Amino acid sequence: MMLGENKRATLRFGVAGNPPHFWDSEFRKDRGYAPAWLRSIGLDALEIQCTYGVRTPDSRAALFREQADEHDIALSIHGPYYITLGTEDPQKRENSLRDLRKSIELAKKVGSRRVIFHPGGAGKDREGSLVRAIDALRVLEVEDEFGDVELFPEIAGKVGQLGSLEEILTICSEISHAWPCLDLAHLHAREGGSFHVQADYEQMFDRIEAALGTEAFDRLHIHMYPIEWGPKGEVRHISLEGAPWTDEPRYEPFLDILAARNLSATVICEAKNSQDIGALTMQAAYRALSP
Ligand SMILES: [Zn+2]
Repeated sequence: MMLGENKRATLRFGVAGNPPHFWDSEFRKDRGYAPAWLRSIGLDALEIQCTYGVRTPDSRAALFREQADEHDIALSIHGPYYITLGTEDPQKRENSLRDLRKSIELAKKVGSRRVIFHPGGAGKDREGSLVRAIDALRVLEVEDEFGDVELFPEIAGKVGQLGSLEEILTICSEISHAWPCLDLAHLHAREGGSFHVQADYEQMFDRIEAALGTEAFDRLHIHMYPIEWGPKGEVRHISLEGAPWTDEPRYEPFLDILAARNLSATVICEAKNSQDIGALTMQAAYRALSP
């Protein structure tokens, strides 16, 4: 490599949770073999879903770690959905922190550096909820049990949830170890359909850079899939099984920007029951762009 020449960006594409094709495969005997299955179809990232609690036994965590190492799969952990950090209820806040601690522990066990989570409801007092959510995360910050793990609060699909782009950027600028999980479908849905052309994505990157600096671009964690939305934001994730990706947000202008800016990223597809199809679609489109 010549001095001053930029290193080629690395894009990893992967799935959140195991789609039906995994359960149809020879790897289905244990979800800890999901990394081997992903490698067999050419993908490189897996978000382990702890939707209803962090209950992965240590034996499976060890299998995830071994399989991810062997097959070069980047792992991330998605914390439970009932985390709600902005709550005024001290018990719910404690439970939410407990769930985040368990998610961080699991990340360490599987050798992952990323814990993704939803900050939770915004309640009637949106600003108060945001302040309480940041205060709750400060408890973890003070404990400093992160090791190599970083937190990725995710943009929320419903307007009633904490997690506009600005709110996520505020959390990340206040809390060390926190970086945005850019769920582009959620952002599109909660903003009433905001991603159409390259300039829309450019604007998002500019807002991120203004808030967090270019360091944020070293840790781009993206969720991308077609979504249906209404006045309150997200309605449902759309399936790509047997149907091309014709709904918004469109992935092509987004991939164009990543290529033009030479940005590395992990791109996770959350299309309903067809995460692998969406991830492979985006990977093929990106490869077609890259020289
Ligand atoms: Zn998401």
